[in-house]
Amino acid sequence: MSAVRLEHLTKTFPGGAAPAVDDVSLTIRDGEFLVLVGPSGCGKSTILRMIAGLEDTTFGDVVIDGQKVTDWAPKQRDIAMVFQNYALYPHMTVAENMGFALRLRRRPKPRIREQVEDTAHLLGLEEYLERKPKALSGGQRQRVAMGRALVRRPRVFLLDEPLSNLDAKLRVSMRAELARLHQRYRVTTVYVTHDQVEAMTLGDRIAVLNRGRLQQVGTPEELYLAPANRFVAGFMGSPSMNFATVVLHDGDPVTMSLDGAVFPFPDVLRRCPDLAGRFGEEIVLGLRPAAFSLAGPDSAAVVEAVPLGVEALGDEKHVLFEAPHGGGAATSGDPGDVPVAVDESSVSRLWTAKVQQHAGLAIGRPVRLALDLSAAYFFDAADGYAIP
Ligand code: ATP
Repeated sequence: MSAVRLEHLTKTFPGGAAPAVDDVSLTIRDGEFLVLVGPSGCGKSTILRMIAGLEDTTFGDVVIDGQKVTDWAPKQRDIAMVFQNYALYPHMTVAENMGFALRLRRRPKPRIREQVEDTAHLLGLEEYLERKPKALSGGQRQRVAMGRALVRRPRVFLLDEPLSNLDAKLRVSMRAELARLHQRYRVTTVYVTHDQVEAMTLGDRIAVLNRGRLQQVGTPEELYLAPANRFVAGFMGSPSMNFATVVLHDGDPVTMSLDGAVFPFPDVLRRCPDLAGRFGEEIVLGLRPAAFSLAGPDSAAVVEAVPLGVEALGDEKHVLFEAPHGGGAATSGDPGDVPVAVDESSVSRLWTAKVQQHAGLAIGRPVRLALDLSAAYFFDAADGYAIP
C-alpha cells in the first residue's frame, strides 16, 4: 500500500527569483495513476525529482505510506523512475538491463528470469531479450526502460515525459500499453507530461500546475467540465477554450453584450447563480470550440466570422477567426502581471470553432456561427477564477 503525500512542497533554486515549485500539497492515493501536467517550466520535473529524492526540498515534505522520507536517499525510497532519455546500460542486453535492479537485490536467478520474462511478455519484448539497446528502435528502448522499472515492483513509479521521443502513432499505442500495465499492476504512479491529451487519457486524476503552483486536482472529467479557473479551462481541451470579455444585464431574460451585440441568455442564472451579483460588470466568457455550429434561421446567438484559417479534420472542421472585440482583454498588459490562474497562451486574438464539414467553408468567406450559450463558462476578469 503506497500513498504519496506532498506537504507544502517548495523548491527555490539558487538565483531563481520565484520558486520553481510553490507550496504544493497533494495526495497521490494508493494504486492511483496521477498525471502532473502543465506548460514547460512549470515545475513538473522538479516535483518528480523531489519525490524520488534526486532534488532537495527547500521547504515541505514528501510522505510515503505515512512515513516522512524527505531526508531519505533515493535508493531507500523504493521508487522507480523512467526518464525521457531512457538511460539504459548500453553494454547490457535487454534481459540484463531489465534484471539489473533484481540482481542488485540478490534475488535468485530463476526468479529474476521469471520476472524479466513475465514483464517482457507484457511489453512485447520477448524476442529482443538478448539484444543490446543500440539494436532497438526508440519505442522498443522506451519499453525496456519501463520494463526495467516495473520488473522489481516498486512502491511508486515515476515517469517523466516517457513518450515524448516517440512518433505520434507509437505514442498512441504506448499510451494504451501504459494504461494496461497500470490496470494490471496498480502501482502508485506519478506521470509528468505537458501534453493534455496524454493527461486526459491516462490519469485517474490530473494535477494541473502553472508557474510552480497547483491550479486544480481532479478527474479528467472534473477538470474539463468544471475548471477552477481560466488557466485550467484554457489548458484542458483541444483546441483550447475561447475567451472574450462580456457584460451581463439584469432583465427577463438576462442579456449578454459581446462586441456590441446583445444576446438573450435565459437560463444563465440557473446554471451560475453567482452571476446575479455581477450584472453590469466586465467578466470573461469561455466557450469551447464545440459550442459553435453553423447558424440556422432560428439560432438565438450568432456571430459573423470571417475565417482566417480552415483546418479539415475528416468529419469536422476547425475554423479560426478573429475573436469578437475583447477576446483577450482580461490578460492584456505586461505578461508578468498575468495572474497564475490565467492561461498566458490564450491571450490570442483568434477564436476556434469546431463545426461539421460544410462545402461553403473557406478562408475569407463570411460565415454565421451559432453559439451554444448553455455550454458557456464564466471567469473573473481580474483574477481568472471561475464564477460558480
Ligand atoms: P519541462 O516540461 O520543460 O521539462 P517542467 O515543468 O518539468 O518543464 P522543471 O524542469 O521542473 O519544469 O523546472 C521548473 C523551473 O525550475 C524552470 O524555470 C527551470 O528553469 C528551473 N530549474 C529547474 N532545474 C533547475 C536547476 N537545477 N537550477 C536552476 N533552475 C532550475
